[in-house]
Amino acid sequence: MKAVQYLDVESVRVGEVPDPELLTADDVLVRVTASAICGSDLHLYRGHIPGMSPGSIMGHEYVGTVAAVGDRVRQFQVGDRVVGTFHVACGACAQCRLGQYHQCAGGGVLGYGLAFGDYPGTQAEMVRVPYGDVNLRKIPDGLADEKAIFCGDILTTAYGAVRNSGLQPGERCAVIGAGPVGLMAVMAARVMGAAEVYSIDRDPERAEATAAFGAIPIASSRTNPVRRIMQATDGLGADVVIEAVGGPQTLALAFQLVRGGGRIAAVGVTAETEWSYPLMTALTRDITFRVGLANIHRDIDATMKLVQAGRLDPSSVISHRLPLEGAPEGYRLFHEQRATKVLLTI
Ligand SMILES: [Zn+2]
Ligand SMILES: [Zn+2]
Repeated sequence: MKAVQYLDVESVRVGEVPDPELLTADDVLVRVTASAICGSDLHLYRGHIPGMSPGSIMGHEYVGTVAAVGDRVRQFQVGDRVVGTFHVACGACAQCRLGQYHQCAGGGVLGYGLAFGDYPGTQAEMVRVPYGDVNLRKIPDGLADEKAIFCGDILTTAYGAVRNSGLQPGERCAVIGAGPVGLMAVMAARVMGAAEVYSIDRDPERAEATAAFGAIPIASSRTNPVRRIMQATDGLGADVVIEAVGGPQTLALAFQLVRGGGRIAAVGVTAETEWSYPLMTALTRDITFRVGLANIHRDIDATMKLVQAGRLDPSSVISHRLPLEGAPEGYRLFHEQRATKVLLTI
């Protein structure tokens, strides 16, 4: 089969690899119909995450149809349309039984290298999904692939961050970063009842584009975002800040934007291992800070229903649709910030 393979820093290719096979009775083989390039794939592409060996298959956002099921699989049959979660979980360990699927002892991330379970990725014609009953969901009839695919990663990641922030109806929310996850966070915050959502991005074009998603845009290269948010909130600050970039500067900005007693949920993926926490600010201003990767399994059923009901339309972030063979170009466009979201159709 054809698959997108990591070769080296800023180098991927579409190569011919052996078809995957069922390795355990819990496995499901999925014939992939679409796989998106995620912002976290760019961390691999840029060589920020160690553990990708040359030739390994990339990708973790996908939809497809079931091609084969292991003997213990109960929920799926050949031909079912499915969306998968980007992180895989066993469903049976102590963490999974607590509902903490993102902390699964035997879990990992598809297509993310040795440190994340060494699972082949989804930017391929076929993928083996371990613990299929746990890590797949059927796509309801009438729900397009282009919408369902985002429930397996970025939409649910953003929705989970907003949920983790404890956003209450009528609150004011600032979202830092207008990349795909930031845009999804804008949509999620609105659906969850935010009175106003401010979207902050350095790039004026990216910031302005968030108005179409219902945000009040702030281009931080032109407008001081702290001053702007303080003006808009009578000097209070945002009740909730969602940090969707990752890294020390935007985390520090979140502490400047949030009101005393407010909450920050950071979901941007970062390659930094340490960061100087503003302890005195957090103490005296009573700020709740939460950081963590998404627990997709916790929220995917909710986001699927919201998408099916038409209350969230994540497909509006797609800027490029390319065939699998176009993956090297897709990675380049996304890397150079010339694409908002690239969907590879297979
Ligand atoms: Zn992702
Ligand atoms: Zn587990």
